[in-house]
Amino acid sequence: MEKLESLNFPNARIEKAADFPRGGWDNLKTYAAMTAPYYCNFTAIPKAWSGSTKGLVTSEVIVLSINTSEDIEKYQGKLRDKIVLMPATSGYEMQFTPFASRQTDERLAQLSTDLRFQDSGSRSQFQAQPIVIVASGAMGLQQRIRTLLEQEKPAVLISGGGAFNVPRSTSVSYRYGDPEPVAELILPVEAHGRMIRMINENINVSMEVEIKNEFYDNQVINNVIAEIPGTDAKLKDEVVLIGGHLDSWHGGTGAADNASGCIVMIEALRIIQEIGVKPRRTIRIALWGGEEQGLIGSRGYMENNLYNVRENKPRKGFEQFALYLNMDNGSGKFRGIYLEENDMAFPFFRQWISAMEAMDFGVLSPRKTSGTDHQSFDRIGLPAFQFIQDNLEYNRGYHTPMDTYERLIITDLQYNAAVIACLALSAAMDNGKIPPKPLSSNFSTQRR
Ligand SMILES: [Zn+2]
Repeated sequence: MEKLESLNFPNARIEKAADFPRGGWDNLKTYAAMTAPYYCNFTAIPKAWSGSTKGLVTSEVIVLSINTSEDIEKYQGKLRDKIVLMPATSGYEMQFTPFASRQTDERLAQLSTDLRFQDSGSRSQFQAQPIVIVASGAMGLQQRIRTLLEQEKPAVLISGGGAFNVPRSTSVSYRYGDPEPVAELILPVEAHGRMIRMINENINVSMEVEIKNEFYDNQVINNVIAEIPGTDAKLKDEVVLIGGHLDSWHGGTGAADNASGCIVMIEALRIIQEIGVKPRRTIRIALWGGEEQGLIGSRGYMENNLYNVRENKPRKGFEQFALYLNMDNGSGKFRGIYLEENDMAFPFFRQWISAMEAMDFGVLSPRKTSGTDHQSFDRIGLPAFQFIQDNLEYNRGYHTPMDTYERLIITDLQYNAAVIACLALSAAMDNGKIPPKPLSSNFSTQRR
């Protein structure tokens, strides 16, 4: 908020979006190394909301391999205070395409074709695999494994996730006030895999691990807001919204996911203010909290301002909502926009991008994207969009210690800010606005 105030954006403020019963969690110390058959330290991150070890723990490493209920018995009485490796759920997949690439003309042509209901979310390829102890999906057995771990109280549970020698963050389920969960650590698949292979060859593997985490209460999810007020007598209460999310995973600093989105939106608003045009509609910037915990900030904004989800009816802000533009796919240059299967958006964007003919931007894809804050608005039918971006190692680095400033390309971000400034201003000056999509019949207050 201080940054937005220092740029003299009017009405800079912090707005509460929602309570956060999960409470706060922070990692104060993490150390993990293999000590036998030889020493090797590992890059490791704890699972968010997991517990601490009792100081430095040194123990033989046990692989949990349970396929039937009978297997459970062989671990009874053997796991207490031990370092336990969860079994591998997926191997490393060799990558034959570049980590970073510019969108090709062929790919952009594909994206502009009308492939209904195709999700172009780009995160699936390297998504950390959830730990599935039993592939058969026998829920009874999984529950018994959970009970076993609760009774045995191992010192730490270790799983493999991420690759390229970098672990990828996830979290355990926890709500403030619950008993502290067992300590859990994520290792890169390479570190996890080599220990499992040795143990399977009957080689004794030992590790030492220390994790210190803290939990705290009274958390709320806030959004940071500012705006350039509209000036047209009839349109000034209508809002063109631009945004990205402020929160990020531990491990890295969240430079790409999603500080890059935040600084692009701030710079876009600065450009609009600097050129001195008086927008007819209000142009508002929103830096969301709690995106990584389930779009909590943007959903709270939607529920508080746009749609009464409990009563299933629009609030006043619904009618006044003109557009939302979101950036959350790394720091790559914008090449076009995904129009969320909204045919009515095409003529608007076609006109708005005509002002940017000299730029390398303008593919209008009918497709949907998922996994970020535009969905909080799209789900109630409002026009909210994400961009087609060049992939600057985003799939490789998001939610990992690699997500730092080193992997941003600032000229790409400056370019994106110019695109946002142009689109937001065009939308704020337009005589009309993109109409809402009809809500699907299965929309209900239960839908999240
Ligand atoms: Zn993100």
